[in-house]
Amino acid sequence: MSTVEARGTITIAVERCKGCELCIPACPPRVLRMSADHNETGYAYPELLPGCTGCGACLLVCPDFCFEVYQYETPILHEVGAIGDLGGPES
Ligand code: SF4
Ligand code: SF4
Repeated sequence: MSTVEARGTITIAVERCKGCELCIPACPPRVLRMSADHNETGYAYPELLPGCTGCGACLLVCPDFCFEVYQYETPILHEVGAIGDLGGPES
């Protein structure tokens, strides 16, 4: 078990997503990953893992305006089960 700090969060308009994946590498802390599920149009869409900084890079890069970004006044701590949950190396 480890703790990850989130300084912000996002909302994702899943039904507008076209699955282009531009947001995935654009996220500096790499806390976005594509879903296994698909939206009604048939596209996979991003999901948020713990650790968003509220930087807004996803909002800037998305051609379909799927993101809204919020910054917390006080960071929130998330407990995560394993490093692998964040897409990093397995511990
Ligand atoms: S706001 Fe920044 S840290 Fe949060 S999901 Fe978007 S790109 Fe990643
Ligand atoms: S950049 Fe936008 S349209 Fe492309 S996968 Fe991410 S949310 Fe979907």
